[in-house]
Amino acid sequence: MKKLLILGAGTAGTMVANRLVKLLDMDEWQISLVDPDPIHYYQPGFLLMPFGMYTKKDVIKQKRDFIPPHVKLIQASVEIIEPDHNLARLSDGTVLPYDYLVIATGANIHPEETPGLGEDEWGKSIHTFYSLEGAETLTKKLRTWDGGRLVVNVVENPIKCPVAPLEFLMLADWFFHERGIRDRVELIYATPLPGAFTKPTASKLLGDLLAQKGITVETEFMVEHVDPVAKKIISYDEREISYDLLISIPLNKGADVVGKSGLGDELNFSPVNKYTLLSDKFANIFVLGDASNAPASKAGSVAHFAVDLFGENFVRYTEGQSLLPTFDGHANCFIESGYNKGLLIDFNYTQEPLPGRYPLPGVGPFTLLEESEQNHWGKLMFRWMYWNLLLKGEQLPLSATMSMSGKWKK
Ligand SMILES: Cc1cc2nc3c(=O)[nH]c(=O)nc-3n(C[C@H](O)[C@H](O)[C@H](O)COP(=O)(O)OP(=O)(O)OC[C@H]3O[C@@H](n4cnc5c(N)ncnc54)[C@H](O)[C@@H]3O)c2cc1C
Repeated sequence: MKKLLILGAGTAGTMVANRLVKLLDMDEWQISLVDPDPIHYYQPGFLLMPFGMYTKKDVIKQKRDFIPPHVKLIQASVEIIEPDHNLARLSDGTVLPYDYLVIATGANIHPEETPGLGEDEWGKSIHTFYSLEGAETLTKKLRTWDGGRLVVNVVENPIKCPVAPLEFLMLADWFFHERGIRDRVELIYATPLPGAFTKPTASKLLGDLLAQKGITVETEFMVEHVDPVAKKIISYDEREISYDLLISIPLNKGADVVGKSGLGDELNFSPVNKYTLLSDKFANIFVLGDASNAPASKAGSVAHFAVDLFGENFVRYTEGQSLLPTFDGHANCFIESGYNKGLLIDFNYTQEPLPGRYPLPGVGPFTLLEESEQNHWGKLMFRWMYWNLLLKGEQLPLSATMSMSGKWKK
C-alpha cells in the first residue's frame, strides 16, 4: 500500500481527503488524516456572529462527519515532520511514515506577538473575531456597547480572508444604525496597506464605499505596540490612534510544526511552487490551503479551487508524469456591506478584481464589485454549500481557474 499522510483536517485537508478517495484506487492507497481538534469550524461565520446573524451552533460541526470511510482520522497533534526520513511524529509518540505528505495545517492568530495586545485588556476593550472564542466574547460586547471610537486594526499581512476587516466595519455601520446609536459611533480602519484593499480597482471602489458609509481609513499603519491603559495603538512611524473599542486582526502565522520541521518561512508559511503547490524543498510534499506561502488569498474558496485542480495533478504525478502548472491563484469572495447587501470579487494571481457579472456573463446573478441583495444571499447560502458540497469534495459547476467572461475590462 502507498501511504498518503494529510496533516490538518480543516477546510483544505478535509476537501483533499474527500477528493482523493474518489480519484485514487483505494486498494492500493492508505490515506491518514491527523488533527488534534475534533471540531470543524466554519470560519467565515465568525464574522457574522458579533452582529447576531449566526450563533455558535451555525459554525461548528464534528470533523468525523466529513471524513470518508476509507480515510483513517487520527486525533492527535503532529509534533514534528522529518522530511528526510519521510515520517511525522505525533504528540503521543506515534510515528507515521508516508510516501506522500500533504500539509494543510492552516494559519492562526498570534496576539502575543504585538506588545500590549493580548494582555489584561484582551476580551475587555480589545477584541478579535478571528477565533470562535473571540467572536463569542465580541457578540456580548457589541450587544451592550454604548458607543465611542471603534478601531479595526490589521497588524500585518497576509491574513486569512483579507476582506473580512472591511466587512466587519460595514456591518458595524449597519448594526449600530439598527441599534439607534450610529451617531455616537466613530468607525476607523487602520491598515498596513496603502488603500482599503490590495488590488487597485477594488481598493478604489471599496475605499469609496467605506467613505460613503462614514468609515475613515488610516493607511500604511504598521502597529508597533498597543497601549491598553491609554487605549491607543502606536505605529512604527510614531502615529497614534486612540480607541474606546479595538478590534484587532492579530499577526497570522502558519502552524509551529511547519517552522520547527524546517519547512517554513519567517511566519511559518511553507514555500511552494505557486502553480503546483509542491514544496520547494521536497518532491513528495504538497502544501494546500492557508499553510503555504503561495501569494493567493488565504481563503476557503481558494483552497477549494486549488484542491479541485490538485486532485488530478496528484494522480498524474504518482503515476510518473510531471505536474501541470494548473493553479492560477483563483479566489472569489463575497463581501458583506450591511443593510442586506454585499459585493463579490473574483480574481487570480495576475488579474485584479473587475466589475461585471458572475458566474454567468451578463446574467449573474451575482454582481462583481457592485452592491446587491443577491450577493448578500449568496454569502448566506455559502454556508450550506460549504457543509454539504465543498467539504465533501463535490465538484461545483464553476471553473476552478478564473474566467474573464462576464468581466468588464478597464
Ligand atoms: C473571520 C474569518 C472570515 C473568513 N471568511 C471567509 C470567506 O468569507 N470566504 C472564504 O473563502 N474564506 C474565509 N475565511 C478563510 C477560511 O476560513 C480559511 O482560509 C480556510 O479555513 C483555510 O483552510 P485550511 O485548511 O488551510 O486551514 P483550517 O481550516 O484553519 O484548518 C487547519 C487545520 O489544521 C489543524 N492543525 C494545526 N496544527 C496542527 C498540527 N500540529 N497537527 C495536526 N493538525 C494541526 C487545525 O486543528 C485545523 O483543523 C475566513 C476566515 C476567518 C478567520
